Amino acid sequence: MKVPLLDLKAQYATIRDEIEPAVKDVFETQYFIMGPKVKAFEGEVAEYSGTKYAIGCASGSDALLLALMALDIGPGDEVITTPYSFFATASCISRLGAKPVFCDILPDTYNIDPGKIEALITPQTKAIIPVHLYGLVADMASINAIAAKHGLAVVEDAAQAIGSASPDGKAGSLAAMGCFSFFPSKNLGGAGDGGMLVTNDDDTADRLGILRLHGSRPKYYHSIVGINSRLDALQAAVLSVKLGHLESWSQGRRDNAANYTRLIAEKGLADKITTPVTPDGYTHIFNQYVIRVENRDGLRDHLAKNDIGSEIYYPVPLHLQECFADLGYKEGSMPVSEEAAKTTMALPIYTELTDEMQEYVIDTIAAF
Ligand SMILES: *Cc1c(COP(=O)(O)O)cnc(C)c1O
Repeated sequence: MKVPLLDLKAQYATIRDEIEPAVKDVFETQYFIMGPKVKAFEGEVAEYSGTKYAIGCASGSDALLLALMALDIGPGDEVITTPYSFFATASCISRLGAKPVFCDILPDTYNIDPGKIEALITPQTKAIIPVHLYGLVADMASINAIAAKHGLAVVEDAAQAIGSASPDGKAGSLAAMGCFSFFPSKNLGGAGDGGMLVTNDDDTADRLGILRLHGSRPKYYHSIVGINSRLDALQAAVLSVKLGHLESWSQGRRDNAANYTRLIAEKGLADKITTPVTPDGYTHIFNQYVIRVENRDGLRDHLAKNDIGSEIYYPVPLHLQECFADLGYKEGSMPVSEEAAKTTMALPIYTELTDEMQEYVIDTIAAF
């Protein structure tokens, strides 16, 4: 048996009949940039996320960049974020000439530790970017309370978390702005790159709408310097079809996660494998099912030999990346993140995974 980390062909087989006419329709209209498909999909995402506005852009990375541009973040400013995330979470800060300030994570949820944020706040601090890692919303109530006390903006990196929720609402609706990615491996993945910002604030929505169009309004009149970052109409057409399936796909991932956790307990592996947690009142969408084990690299080799895919998210925490060396962090600066980078791994969790495949994965781990 072969169990890949992700099988997008299996998903496509279930929606081919809906995707093909939607794509064909875009070609027939030859309306590729902005236009009705993009506007319609923005409306659908806003409704789905429980926000007033949604603004499409070219990628999740650009969504983060645009969010910080909307906040006027620049040289001299500091932004607090987690070192245990995808690179784009921190690069958006550096690209604007501001300084990323890393805050270690909680060992059970892998999300930013709110208890460690306040000590990092300086007069230069402008914003906090929590990440809803693997599809679990960070402790936004605590983060928002700290931000309010110190007058900081909060931007949610919800790239992995569309549709996930905390007791206070859905990912993206819990702060000034939320950023989604439609990279193909996300729960809502496009046929290429794509991203979206969501917000409840009228002025922020207006500003983001201008910033993604070179800062122009009306066309060819530039009051601010923006970038070219739009969601293609083709992507909007594909994503609009896929959004209709997102709830059931994410439920499928949750069912698979529960199944893994049950199998791990049944096969007597519970003391050797730390399984993901979902705090009370939260809805996890399991963009990844990440376990913690001893001898992680040995286990990954064993799985690979048995045709089972796995991945490390992420092998090098951001504070130890070469490009951030001048920030002065060292091995030991962020011990919880560093330990997670050494001991965690993601197992296949996509919706179309069968019970037999999951049993094979856990049996193969048990044999190791
Ligand atoms: C995927 C991802 C991004 C970037 O999204 P792209 O669409 O690939 O640019 C940012 N942050 C996190 C946490 C991600 O997982």
